[in-house]
Amino acid sequence: MAAQHSEHTFKAEITQLLDIITNSIYTNRDIFLRELISNASDAMDKVRFLTSSGTDVVDSDAELAITITTDKDARTITVTDTGIGLTRDELIDNIGTIAHSGSASFMEEAAKNGTQADSIIGRFGVGFYSVFMVADNVTITSRSAMQDATPVVWTSGGTGSYTIEDAEGDVPRGTTISIHLKEDAADFADTERLKGIIREHSNFISFPIKVDGEHVNTQPALWREPKFQIKQDQYDEFYKFLTYDTNAPLDTLHIAVDAPVQFNALLFVPDMSSGGFFNDPETYGLDLYVRRVLIDRRHKDLIPQYLGFMRGVVDTEDLPLNISRETLQENILIDKIRNTVTKQVLTRLAKLAEDDAEKYASFWKNHHKVFKLGYSDFMNKDRFAELLRFNSSANEDADGLTSLAEYAERMKDGQKEIYYISGNSREAIRLNPHGEIFRRKGIEVLYLYEPIDEFIMEALREYKEFRLVAAEQADMAALEAFKDTEDGPAATETLSEEDEKTFDDVLAAIKSILGERVEDVRVSRRLKDSPACLVSADGTSSQMQKMMQIMSKDTTPPVKILELNRDHALARNLLKIYKGDAEDPFFRTSVEHLYEGALLQEGYLNDPHALVARINELLEKSSGWYAEIKNY
Ligand code: ADP
Repeated sequence: MAAQHSEHTFKAEITQLLDIITNSIYTNRDIFLRELISNASDAMDKVRFLTSSGTDVVDSDAELAITITTDKDARTITVTDTGIGLTRDELIDNIGTIAHSGSASFMEEAAKNGTQADSIIGRFGVGFYSVFMVADNVTITSRSAMQDATPVVWTSGGTGSYTIEDAEGDVPRGTTISIHLKEDAADFADTERLKGIIREHSNFISFPIKVDGEHVNTQPALWREPKFQIKQDQYDEFYKFLTYDTNAPLDTLHIAVDAPVQFNALLFVPDMSSGGFFNDPETYGLDLYVRRVLIDRRHKDLIPQYLGFMRGVVDTEDLPLNISRETLQENILIDKIRNTVTKQVLTRLAKLAEDDAEKYASFWKNHHKVFKLGYSDFMNKDRFAELLRFNSSANEDADGLTSLAEYAERMKDGQKEIYYISGNSREAIRLNPHGEIFRRKGIEVLYLYEPIDEFIMEALREYKEFRLVAAEQADMAALEAFKDTEDGPAATETLSEEDEKTFDDVLAAIKSILGERVEDVRVSRRLKDSPACLVSADGTSSQMQKMMQIMSKDTTPPVKILELNRDHALARNLLKIYKGDAEDPFFRTSVEHLYEGALLQEGYLNDPHALVARINELLEKSSGWYAEIKNY
């Protein structure tokens, strides 16, 4: 049969990628070898997996190894593996396209912005193409491990197109990449250079890598070594190998567990302060090994999503090597490993918080968004609560962090609750009338900036013996019992007994103006600086109510209680007006405005037009009076 020859053009995004790769001048070209070796290693993991699960593969007794040869004079390097190989179709599908969704648009952006190649490689599963940083011609010869596949040869100069034809002669299972080096990359054909690159980037590959016959990567599976023999440098090196991060990890956790299930794990908290680390919350998980053999990368069942920022490996003796990915899914051993890993990670984070507050703060800054999802882990509720951090009125600025334990320590004698207020920013929260009484009494309030914080408070309900309470739901009588620590505006004269009674009529008049819009109108005990605020009658906080409304797409303002600050000058003026003429339209206008102002503060005012028109009307009048008084 004649060798089937075909020519193909690369997809547009590949051509773009190749453009970036060949034109990036400052890129670290060494990494092409890391990419080829990592592909080779994956291919051998796959064939080993097939063999152990009973598939009859080609050359079933071939040694699993990566062999690299060089020829300085010919300016060539070959990288050979005995992995799963590629069929003609797989070559077209896997090497001719980029698998990652969104890569095409990313590539376009990258091309525009002059992004360097090494920041793209590895990020989008485009590692193979990095070879064109050093090559002007590449040939892939591959024989699939599947029994009836024809060996094929793929050739490309890295510009626009490639050819595929059937291979001639006897091709063993696996893949050989033959690289013809560009003139300015000739020194990559130097074996010492290659060995150096392998030690730097591929030391932890679990298959032997041989350069011109010499076994180069002699690092053992680090997680299986006794802890006391390992230096932090080695951990860091392994972490960088695992993640491609250029920074050392923030923290390292190496554990060996015997019960209820045997496993070793080497886990890291990434330090993302460089910002370059690609952290996709969808692809969390730990690499699962069984007796040093990789079974699955990023296996999600090994760690809960809220600890998904962790990177690392788990290796167990207790699972069979030929376990299928499907049976892994509801495997009780995996559940046990996850439970132990979870507890160990939480304990480790607690230790980090205790030993090194600065590092913990940087952990919090990097990972709090993911970590906060842990509110649903009821089994570890207490551990989770200890690790939470919030900004608080006791902090100097919005960057300060407070733990619940610190709050509890600072509590007033006799204080039984932990208070919080939600808002978009520290400034917004400081303007919230519900905070006034806490400021006056010198009682600390936690500031919640993210919607998820409310869910956390709802889920936890309490910390130690202290209930977690939204400021607006606080028991006013209990708060009143604390002494004032701050002088508010000078106290207004107390009302005469008669005026007090009339004020009750004022409240009733307000209620009849607002009608169904409010549940009740009453005198506030919490306000000092603001004239009015809204309070919900049941237990839900306004933030929670708002979230539920967003979910149900309901925009009608909830019916709440309007509280009036009787000592506020505005309330006193209303009293005067009411006494003068209970039907005065100015009274009605003011009431409407007080209510809408309070709604606005709660974030419920759907249509601000009426409010603005009213302000303008009031301003028109008051500016007239002002000009008159001033004799302008
Ligand atoms: P990635 O390895 O990140 O998926 P690459 O562009 O490096 O991206 O490779 C694309 C695909 O080509 C791989 O996912 C794999 O299916 C296949 N491939 C690459 N190298 C080999 C190899 N040596 N043996 C078998 N398949 C390979």
